[in-house]
Parts: sequence; structure tokens; C-alpha cells
Amino acid sequence: MADEQSLEPKILIFADDPERKPRLYACAKCGSVHSPKIYLALEEVRHATAMDAARDCYTCKTHNACQYCGEQCSKSFTACEACRYQRKLDAATEIPDNGGPYCLFDGDTYFMEMEEARDFGAEWVSPCNVSYPRIDADNVLENLLDDMHEDASTDDMKGVDEFYAAVKAFNQAQDCPSYFGDDKRKIRVPARAEKAS
Ligand SMILES: [Zn+2]
Ligand SMILES: [Zn+2]
Repeated sequence: MADEQSLEPKILIFADDPERKPRLYACAKCGSVHSPKIYLALEEVRHATAMDAARDCYTCKTHNACQYCGEQCSKSFTACEACRYQRKLDAATEIPDNGGPYCLFDGDTYFMEMEEARDFGAEWVSPCNVSYPRIDADNVLENLLDDMHEDASTDDMKGVDEFYAAVKAFNQAQDCPSYFGDDKRKIRVPARAEKAS
């Protein structure tokens, strides 16, 4: 397998070109071609890049090496799952415990209490953004105007003030929250021993 992967790319030329100028580079195994024309670089660099692309054929390869740790990873990623998680975690701003609810960092498991996160075995959680169902009254009216004659305005409608009032009352009555983990921020889950405080 390693030998097959290291097969040198085939260089394609025009049959009637006396200079035999390289035009395309093809994977020696499956024949996928790579054109130097698609790269924005100096002629020489373009050819080297197309050659590399043919050598490192996406169709033929079964996996990538993680760019950070070198471990095998899915060929649709340049880094393994653990390194991608670590980088996301490193980039997040640490904040103090905000009382919850929490979301497993970079996950979709939610906890109302910090103890639940700790029992789950989580090391890091994210705070949550909370949202409630909302109707945007202006949006609704704009949609209606789109279906009316060209220079129509809300002045051509009846009951607009009542509509705004009804939407406002509807929005204010909503009490079912939805939580979304904010993975730009992180909270360290305290170890069991620290719980006493
Ligand atoms: Zn190939
Ligand atoms: Zn890695």
C-alpha cells in the first residue's frame, strides 16, 4: 500500500508538442488529473503544486495525517478530532461559573446543574445563550408588502397597530427557553473534592 501511494505522478503532454511541455499531472494509480492553471502562483510553483496534488491523490488516499500530532485522521480533515477539540478549547475564553445551564464543551449534551456535568465526567462546559420563540412583526409585514403592488406601504393595511400590539403580547407570553451552548466561552468543571465550598 505504501509503495502504491508513492508512485510518481504521470506527466501529461500534448502529443503534437515538440517541446513536450508538461500540461497536466495525473495520479499514477487512478488517473485523476491536476492542472497547474488553477493555482495562483508563479509558473514553477503552480507546476510543483499540481504535481504534489497528483502525488497526494485525494481519491486514492484513505486518511490524512493530523497536521498537529501526526496521527491518522479522516481524509476530510487536516487535523484529528482530539487536536481539533483542543484547539477550539484553547481558543475559548475561560469564564467563572455563571450558574448554568451548561452545555458540554463542543458537544450537544446539556446540564442544568454543574454537578450533573461533573457526574457526566465533563472537564469543560460552555455557558448557554438562551432564546425564546419570537415573531418579528416588521418581517411579517415586509413579507406581506412583497406580495402587494409595487409602491404599497403599511399605510395601505388596516389594523397595523393592533397587529404590533398582538405580536408584542405573544412574544412577552413565551416562557419556553431554548439553550444553545456558546463554545467561544468555557467553564472548568470543578473536581468532586472542591464541591464542599
Ligand atoms: Zn488517485
Ligand atoms: Zn492530532
